[in-house]
Amino acid sequence: MRDTASSQLPFIDLQAQRSRISDQIDAAIRRVLDHGAFIMGPEIIEVERQLAERTGAEHCLTCASGTDALILPLMAANIGPGDAVLVPSFTFTSSAEVVALRGATPVFVDVDPQTFNMDVDSLKAGLIAAEQAGLTAKAIMTVDLFGQPVDFDPIRDIADQHGLWILDDAAQAFGATYKGAPLGTIGRVTGTSFYPAKPLACYGDGGAVFTDDTELYERMKCVRVHGNGGGSAEAKYLGLTARFDSIQAAVLIEKLKIFDDECDRRNAVAQRYTKGLSDIVQTPRLIEGATSIWAQYTLVSEQRDVIVKTLAAENIPTALFYPRPLHAQAPYQGYPVSGNGLPVTEQLAAQVVSLPMHPYLEADAQTHIISAVRAALAS
Ligand SMILES: *Cc1c(COP(=O)(O)O)cnc(C)c1O
Repeated sequence: MRDTASSQLPFIDLQAQRSRISDQIDAAIRRVLDHGAFIMGPEIIEVERQLAERTGAEHCLTCASGTDALILPLMAANIGPGDAVLVPSFTFTSSAEVVALRGATPVFVDVDPQTFNMDVDSLKAGLIAAEQAGLTAKAIMTVDLFGQPVDFDPIRDIADQHGLWILDDAAQAFGATYKGAPLGTIGRVTGTSFYPAKPLACYGDGGAVFTDDTELYERMKCVRVHGNGGGSAEAKYLGLTARFDSIQAAVLIEKLKIFDDECDRRNAVAQRYTKGLSDIVQTPRLIEGATSIWAQYTLVSEQRDVIVKTLAAENIPTALFYPRPLHAQAPYQGYPVSGNGLPVTEQLAAQVVSLPMHPYLEADAQTHIISAVRAALAS
C-alpha cells in the first residue's frame, strides 16, 4: 500500500514498483516456500542463467551482497598483503573495504568533476604512489558511480601497460552500457549489488559477480561456500558463507521482467531533470557512447546546503552521496593517496546533492522538485 497520508515524497518509491507486480512476487515467494529449497534452489540457477544472458558474460555467480561480489574475486585471485588496488575515494565504503579486509592496500585515486568517475591522470599518479609505498599494484577497481560506466578504454590501456586487471564495481550500474556492451563483460570481473535501493534489487541483501574467466569463476564458486563449493568435505581455500537466497532470486526473476521498462522510465526522469535544471546548475554529464541506469541523479552546486534546506521545507527528500570521501574516514586514513591529494573528490563531497530518482517518479512531482531547486538557487 502507498502511504497517501504522508505528504513526504519518497526518495526511492519501492512501493510503487511493488504494487505493479505484487501478485507475481507473492506467487514467486510462495513457490519457494512450497518447494522448500531455500539454499541454492532452482531459482538461483535460473537467475544466474538470466543474468549471464542479459550481460553476455560467460559466467554469473550470485552471492549474498554487493560487498561479497567484490571480495570474492579478490579472495579467488589471492590479492593480499603487499598488494595495492587502485580505488576511487569518492564512492561507497565497500569499494575500499574489501581491499583492506584482504590485508591489501587501497590506494585512493581522484575522480573527474563532470562524471564523478575515476580520473586517468590521478590513476597514473596513484600507481607511482603505490610503488613509492613499496607495494605491488595488482588491480584497478573502477566504480560506475551513480549508474554511469567508467570510461574504460583509457583505463584499460593503463591496466594493460602495467599488467593489472580491472575489477569493476558496478553495484550502482547493472543495466548500464559502455560502447554498446552491457556492464558485466568489460573488466576481468564485474560485481553488482541487489540491495533494495539499487536499480535492480531484491527484498534484502544480494549481489552477483560476472566474468568470462572460467578458472576464476570456479575458484569464486568454491570461495562462496567455505572454500569447498558446498559439495566437498574438504576446504580448498579460505571461504565465506556468501550464497544468495532462493527467495531473493525468486523476487529478482520477477523484477527482471519489468527491468527494461524501468530503465526507459529512469531515462525519461533523468531527461526531465536535465531539461528543467541544466541552465542553472551542473547536471550529470554522460560520456560519449555510454548509457546510465541513473541509480542517482546528482547535482553539483556551491549552494548545495541551500538546495537541501529549501527542498526539505517542501517535503522533498534529498541525499548526499558522498559527504565524506573514504580517504578522510577513520578506517582508511592511513592508506596512500594519489598525487598531492584528491582535490576534485573533496570539492564534490562539499557540493553534491542527489534528487529523488526512481522509475515511478511522475512528471507533476518532478515539476515541483525542479521549481523548488530553481527557487533555492534564485534565493
Ligand atoms: C551499494 C554499493 C556496494 C555494496 O553493495 P551491498 O550490496 O550493500 O554490499 C558496493 N559499491 C558501491 C559503489 C555501492 O554503491
